[in-house]
Amino acid sequence: MNTLKDSFGRVHDYLRISLTDVCNFRCQYCIPDENVRFMPLSRLMMSDEIDVIAGVFVKMGVNKIRLTGGEPLIRKDAKDILLSLSKYPVELTLTTNGSVINEFISVFKEAGIKSVNVSLDTLNEKKFTEITRRNDFDKVFKNIQSLMDEGFHVKVNAVIMRGVNDDEIPDFIEWTKTQPVHVRFIEFMPFAGNQWNTEKVFSYHEMLDVISDKYGFIRMKDDANATAKKFKPYNHEGTFAVISTMSEPFCGSCNRMRLTADGKMKNCLFSKGEADILTALRRGEDIIPIIEQCLAVKAEALGGQFEGDYQKIDTSKISNRSMIEIGG
Ligand code: SAM
Ligand code: SF4
Repeated sequence: MNTLKDSFGRVHDYLRISLTDVCNFRCQYCIPDENVRFMPLSRLMMSDEIDVIAGVFVKMGVNKIRLTGGEPLIRKDAKDILLSLSKYPVELTLTTNGSVINEFISVFKEAGIKSVNVSLDTLNEKKFTEITRRNDFDKVFKNIQSLMDEGFHVKVNAVIMRGVNDDEIPDFIEWTKTQPVHVRFIEFMPFAGNQWNTEKVFSYHEMLDVISDKYGFIRMKDDANATAKKFKPYNHEGTFAVISTMSEPFCGSCNRMRLTADGKMKNCLFSKGEADILTALRRGEDIIPIIEQCLAVKAEALGGQFEGDYQKIDTSKISNRSMIEIGG
């Protein structure tokens, strides 16, 4: 039975676990500073702690776990963690920057992973280097292709920022013509230090306008609790979707909880508060009441930090970690 209900009656069955706040990329919109300091290892959840905490969430009703970060696959024991979590009756998946997927294809298969989200914000090599401050476009692109060749369901996450990559939306749609790739355009979101401003947000409706100038498509049926509005261009192998967090938030059907790499539970990506699950576990305390209490205070929308028109958001009033410290 699922006991993970918040005060608005939303049932939570999806846990996103950040394995590390470390990353081999330095995406401008995610890492505030090239010389960022990462958490000391002693503060991170160890693999057996991740296993125990995940097991408690599964007993409480979680049926989907996504590993994220930082870059989850650069953690030295990523393989062990994937395999240990695969014993739970959950849909296990991950979000990765794709740089080392070539070392993990057989591990994904062994862990029963069917679908992988890979982040790629541009199809232009030079722009890739500007955005990520790393020179790995070819590696990532090849790895996405390998995943598709191996039969995985591949979703490509592209954060669309005005003046940076909004001109590439048609190129991404063109990619879906011959490849079974599922591109997800994400509206740019504000986090600590990421230079967000409203002008840089390229909204859901602007995206649809650009796409409909060139392509015909139909709206697909949304999955329950979906964050993405999905579309299928006529006669294309793949699909596209838009994650409209800023212009049309989807908090009403939210089923997600997060665990940061240092073992803090966040009831929302934008929540100010955190519950210290790891310290409680290390003290031998029961973590179930802590999880329940954290969920009980979940705000109705967007962590209670902003509402209404995103164009009126005052970022100086938002209190949160940077995206890389939360785990996207
Ligand atoms: N390193 C992995 C990756 O890049 O896929 C996993 C972690 S990353 C933080 C997870 C997702 O968050 C990525 O798809 C990334 O594009 C997205 N993301 C990071 N900062 C964002 C922002 N400011 N607005 C919207 N999406 C963001
Ligand atoms: Fe690393 Fe992913 Fe953040 Fe880019 S978006 S810096 S790849 S964690």
